Amino acid sequence: MTDFKYKVVRSSRRRFSSSISITPERGVVVSVPPWVSLSAIEKMVQEKTDWIIKTLEKLDSYKRKPAKRYVDGETHLYFGEEYPLSVVSAVGIATPRLSFLYNKFEVKIPAHHTPLTQRKELKEAMIRWYLDNGKRIITQKVGHFTKLLGVTYNRIVLKKVSSIWGSCSRKNNLNFNRKLIMAPHEIVDYVVIHEVCHLVHHHHRKTFWDLVRSLDPKYKDHVRWLKKNHYLLTI
Ligand SMILES: [Zn+2]
Repeated sequence: MTDFKYKVVRSSRRRFSSSISITPERGVVVSVPPWVSLSAIEKMVQEKTDWIIKTLEKLDSYKRKPAKRYVDGETHLYFGEEYPLSVVSAVGIATPRLSFLYNKFEVKIPAHHTPLTQRKELKEAMIRWYLDNGKRIITQKVGHFTKLLGVTYNRIVLKKVSSIWGSCSRKNNLNFNRKLIMAPHEIVDYVVIHEVCHLVHHHHRKTFWDLVRSLDPKYKDHVRWLKKNHYLLTI
């Protein structure tokens, strides 16, 4: 039994070997010489099932969410929930005003600005709001877990990085990927716990992971979630 689809391509007579390729554009393609039977193809696919599934999962995690357009009616993630964005053109203001009320982002943008400027201002206002609020909430979480472990930290920085979720420097500065503001709370908690545990152990040996587990027994699920869903988190 396979739970993926595949295409069979019968190549020219000159080709004597069979192969399986997996690409985002074409999916799973089995290339075989014309004389190979269907049952032989099935057997070949079955033998490679583990590898095919693993590769498909990897491709999946590279999927990209469509880029944000910063327009009225779009939804934006905030700690794991999607909230609608409402954009209002307002007279008498010089800079955008953003509020998050009743589970909705509402941005007032200066009516006299060009659409291009308005879009740019809107994006900047959203990012500023995300960073202010995200930092406030991540700081609360860090405060909670450092108190539990009886450790102190120097400062917290939210960074624009692509693949690292967090890091802890020798000077006990805690850095977090700003995209975390979009992840569900339990995922953010895991990353915070991970970095706070580095204030105790500056390594990834067993004692470190035991400490992580003591604060987040489901940490392995959370690591997996990040690997699978990181592409959903875009500002
Ligand atoms: Zn680490």
